[in-house]
Amino acid sequence: MSSNLLKHWSRSFAVRLTLGYALIFTLSAVVLFSLLYVLLASALERKDREVIEARLKECAAVYSSGGLPALRNLVKLNSTDEGKSKSFFVRVTGNLGSVLFVNVPNDWLQADEASLQSQGDTTRAEWLRIPKDDEKDLTVASARLYDGSLLQVGRSTNSRETVLQPFRLNFLLVMTPTLVLAVLGGAFFAHRATKPVRDVVATARTISDTGDFSARVTAQASQAELEELATEFNRLLDKNDALIQGMRHALDNVAHDLRTPLTRLRGTAEAAVQTTPDPVAREALADCVEESDRVLTMLKALMDISEAEAGMMRLHRELTSIPSLLEQVIALYELISEEKHITITTDFASDCKASVDPTRMSQALANLLDNALKYTPEGGKVHLACRAAANTVSVSIHDTGIGIPATDQPHIWNRLYRGDKSRAQRGLGLGLSLVKAIVEAHHGTVAVTSEAGKGTEFVITVPQIPLG
Ligand code: ATP
Ligand code: MG
Repeated sequence: MSSNLLKHWSRSFAVRLTLGYALIFTLSAVVLFSLLYVLLASALERKDREVIEARLKECAAVYSSGGLPALRNLVKLNSTDEGKSKSFFVRVTGNLGSVLFVNVPNDWLQADEASLQSQGDTTRAEWLRIPKDDEKDLTVASARLYDGSLLQVGRSTNSRETVLQPFRLNFLLVMTPTLVLAVLGGAFFAHRATKPVRDVVATARTISDTGDFSARVTAQASQAELEELATEFNRLLDKNDALIQGMRHALDNVAHDLRTPLTRLRGTAEAAVQTTPDPVAREALADCVEESDRVLTMLKALMDISEAEAGMMRLHRELTSIPSLLEQVIALYELISEEKHITITTDFASDCKASVDPTRMSQALANLLDNALKYTPEGGKVHLACRAAANTVSVSIHDTGIGIPATDQPHIWNRLYRGDKSRAQRGLGLGLSLVKAIVEAHHGTVAVTSEAGKGTEFVITVPQIPLG
């Protein structure tokens, strides 16, 4: 169950859209933060260097004009000038590596100079940045002087880490809600974006489950592409519907047009049966009459159905006792039920009267009982019940037969539809269409409850007094 759900989720377009959206959102945030981080780091470095470079140039100029004593004076002057402000580290190293002059500021520790010694003993002019502790760095610039000595100027600067570390921490803090927001936002947009697709699926499912071809997708004007999908889908359904209506009309027309020649054919065969002396020919003609009757019944049923569906079935209503109608129908099927050893039981309430066309209503009830007996194996049971409720009468016909699979149930009301398991039995697939048409002509309803292999129950409900 859960693995199926997981599989469905992993294949879901909306989920993929959400994850894709969240990924892009997160990547964009990471790129943006990284860019800011690099810019901030280089800005910090540049600021430090500008100050040191200016002092380096100043020292170099003073050394060029007045040599080491002038430089010493300058450094001394600056140390007192700057007072509490940070003074610079200045060191001049001679050609042979001997230190000619050094000024170590107060805030430098012994260890600072030592670490500079180990790294700064270079003969090349270059920048050095030595991490001192968590809050400070040592930044040193070097320049080769005119006489070949190396001038180094440096100072302890605020550690970049003091600024960058909170930046990184904040990045992580901001990223967590951002990620949640990205997933939620992605889910919201994906849900909205896929709604028209879900509508199309729901409509298709309604049609296949209920057989209701009038279902349509309600197009959303806000999403052009998906609105097009809905419109095209609806157009396809309209065409399909028109095609089905066309086929129905063609069937009705054929039924109508075939009736007259077939009736004439039957009449001729019936007359010939009386006069033909040849027994073989007589038997063949009798078969013709029988087959013609079958086809005529079918044509009549087809025409009745289309008449009822078009609202043109003429009903001769009279206040009828439904239990007595049922008794008459049961009597008609007595022989068949005895042959199949099917027990018919009844439970009729006495006050079940309704204003119906007795002939049409018997036809509907007979079709339901015919099905119940036909689709119940030998030794089964059929139970008929009749109940009156406020303004309605309902008849239930319950059997212990083969049942109707759930997938077949929406289709059994269609003309000429026959279940796969029913093929062994005679029939045209018109019985239930006629039942539905007759019941609906009476402004009633007919419903089925069935489980394959267990049995079936059909319930007809009609108003006691005609509506309208
Ligand atoms: P016809 O009624 O025209 O002789 P039919 O019985 O096959 O032929 P319907 O009465 O319209 O046609 O029924 C349609 C299908 O519904 C049947 O083919 C059968 O598969 C199924 N069906 C109807 N009633 C029952 C029932 N009581 N038990 C099981 N299946 C049924
Ligand atoms: Mg039938």
